Amino acid sequence: MKAALWYAKQDVRIEEIPEPKPGPGEVKIRVKWCGICGSDLHEYEDGPFSIPVDTPHPLTGKKAPIVLGHEFSGDIVEVGEGVTGWNVGDRVTAEATVACLECRYCKQGHYSYCDRLGIFGVHGSGGAMAEYVVAGAPFLHKIPGNLDYEKASLVEPIAVGFHSLGAGNFRAGMTAVVLGAGPIGLGVIESLRAAGAHKIIAVVRKSVRQEYALRSGADVLLDPYEVDAPAEIRKITGGLGADICFETFGVDFGVNLGLNCLHNGGTLVVISLWNKPVSVDLMHTVLTEKYIVGSNLYSYNDFETVLKMLEDGRIPAKGYITKRIALDDLVAEGFHTLSGPDKKKHVKILVTPDRSLL
Ligand SMILES: [Zn+2]
Ligand SMILES: [Zn+2]
Repeated sequence: MKAALWYAKQDVRIEEIPEPKPGPGEVKIRVKWCGICGSDLHEYEDGPFSIPVDTPHPLTGKKAPIVLGHEFSGDIVEVGEGVTGWNVGDRVTAEATVACLECRYCKQGHYSYCDRLGIFGVHGSGGAMAEYVVAGAPFLHKIPGNLDYEKASLVEPIAVGFHSLGAGNFRAGMTAVVLGAGPIGLGVIESLRAAGAHKIIAVVRKSVRQEYALRSGADVLLDPYEVDAPAEIRKITGGLGADICFETFGVDFGVNLGLNCLHNGGTLVVISLWNKPVSVDLMHTVLTEKYIVGSNLYSYNDFETVLKMLEDGRIPAKGYITKRIALDDLVAEGFHTLSGPDKKKHVKILVTPDRSLL
């Protein structure tokens, strides 16, 4: 079968490899669509960040070259030994989590805390930028009735945003600030709208992304390079500041800006991934009793909830898919588009191994 293999930075090849076989507890899926994640792009442009190159991943036992892709949908074509409740022909998507299911965290259901946590399509397990992929039954989800395969492949990145609401103890009626309007920031905005935010303030630099933030449900837009965002937010909130802020900028500036947008006792939820430490004014945090919390991936229930909300339209995800391409064109039409002059226009580029879907 055809698959996209990451060999090294700037070296992703579409190659013929043997079809994967489902082991005990696994199913084999024919892939319909797989989204390109920001993390795939980073691994291509500047990696390796997370892809194991010298030492195999402790859970999967694999290292590069690895098959990319973790935001996908498809049909089950084969069911492995011991799998119950899943049948050939089921329309499915899967979490990108690869957890041991044996450690204390996994047994409590907190498998995103797993000691040996891996990411599908990054750490050597799976990889859905391929004609077929094998996934563990515990991480599968049925695509609800009316939801199409394209939208179903969006559940993974949107669930990352949705999960962050729970991580920050968001409650309906709160005023929220969202820093950034990339795929995750937009997922947070859509989730906040669906979950009953009183007001959503998107802090986004001037670009087409501002329109996207409004379309996703933001009430107010602030360009942090044009205005004093914390001061504007205090004006909007009766002089106090916002209840909660979601950080998806991924730069130091965003963490400190986020803290300054909050009222005392408010919560900053950090969702970005970092490859170096960040400098934060902890004295300010102490004196104001603000919370800084991290949010990683999602839980089984987040995935189920987001799938339902995508199906019934509470999360419309309108305009989220900005391009559809064939697997063969992943590098030229996918990665190069996402790093080229039109990069801001794109939210999610979907890849398919089946040209008849284009
Ligand atoms: Zn992703
Ligand atoms: Zn575990």
